[in-house]
Amino acid sequence: MIPVLDLSPEIDALWDEVNAAVQRVLRSGQFILGPEVEAFEREVAEYLGVRHAVGVNSGTDALVLALRALGIGPGDEVVTTPFTFFATAEAVESVGAEVVFADIEPDSFNLDPAAVEAAITERTRALLPVHLFGRPAAMGALLGLAERHGLAVVEDAAQAFGARLGERPAGTLGDLGAYSFFPTKNLGAYGDAGLVTTDDDGAAEAVRMLRAHGAKRKYHNEVVGYNSRLDALQAAVLRVKLPHVDAYNEVRRSVAARYNEALADVEGLVVPEVSEGHVFHQYTVRILGEHREMVRAALKARGVGTMVYYPVPCHRLPLYAGRGLRLPEAERAAAEALSLPIWPQLDAPTQDCVIAAIRDAV
Ligand SMILES: *Cc1c(COP(=O)(O)O)cnc(C)c1O
Repeated sequence: MIPVLDLSPEIDALWDEVNAAVQRVLRSGQFILGPEVEAFEREVAEYLGVRHAVGVNSGTDALVLALRALGIGPGDEVVTTPFTFFATAEAVESVGAEVVFADIEPDSFNLDPAAVEAAITERTRALLPVHLFGRPAAMGALLGLAERHGLAVVEDAAQAFGARLGERPAGTLGDLGAYSFFPTKNLGAYGDAGLVTTDDDGAAEAVRMLRAHGAKRKYHNEVVGYNSRLDALQAAVLRVKLPHVDAYNEVRRSVAARYNEALADVEGLVVPEVSEGHVFHQYTVRILGEHREMVRAALKARGVGTMVYYPVPCHRLPLYAGRGLRLPEAERAAAEALSLPIWPQLDAPTQDCVIAAIRDAV
């Protein structure tokens, strides 16, 4: 069976380096924050070209802390995409604000700026675009909207570490960026980990305070915060992997290009565009004509694993079903999207097996 993701070749390739890093942390006796986390924060800030990078417990916490740092809370609305992992909406709920879903663009699976504009009210405080599957959202248009309406922008870059728009990394174009280092992400730790980035000194200070129980100085708590500190073992692992992430993303892009070339002529299947700066966290095609589940089963029978991200758009989750909201593009994407195997060490013969199975199955 070809899985959708295989982390083992990466672990094999980095085995000695990761072991040395883990042993260094064990010997240091410092397991939460400390020099290892500070070193990672410096290195990742330099990689991303931002003034501040603050390590936190998870990508979900990164979103929550970014929203809190902006002072977003009860009475505020945040406009985001329904076609994302629930954590995006959940973060907005967690700070007590209201989630407003706007529909997506069919080609990119990302927020449609026109739909976002239509969703803005006098209570809107922020836009929360997601760079889904590693493809940067339409940030030019979204930043323009934010500017015209006086809104903050928090980017959910959980799936897009290393993605770029022009020279700028995804996650660094808005006011704050939130990244996840969940093990399956393009830059993955070996446990939960996340990061908030910003160029704003005040916002960075707020995030640092919030991650440590709302205290700038230990035992001098100023606000109700969180226990959301990055641990040193994860920081050490991330320091080993950070120098490789561009090369890994480059391979993902070339695997995607090769899949596209081999699948472009398959009827009833739409391949994703290898757009500028896309880092293919997922390689996601559309299976047209309500055939996805059949194709999925046929691929499984041929030994090819697939995943559906996401079978239910957020606005149709039980939590929001009462709103009765219809967003046709997000619903169509949820019915048609199928993610195929992709990882940086996925070799050509295995790609060929996937390609042959799809040509057969569709
Ligand atoms: C993974 C993910 C998150 C949450 O990150 P965690 O580190 O798992 O908390 C948030 N948003 C999106 C789009 C994600 O893919």
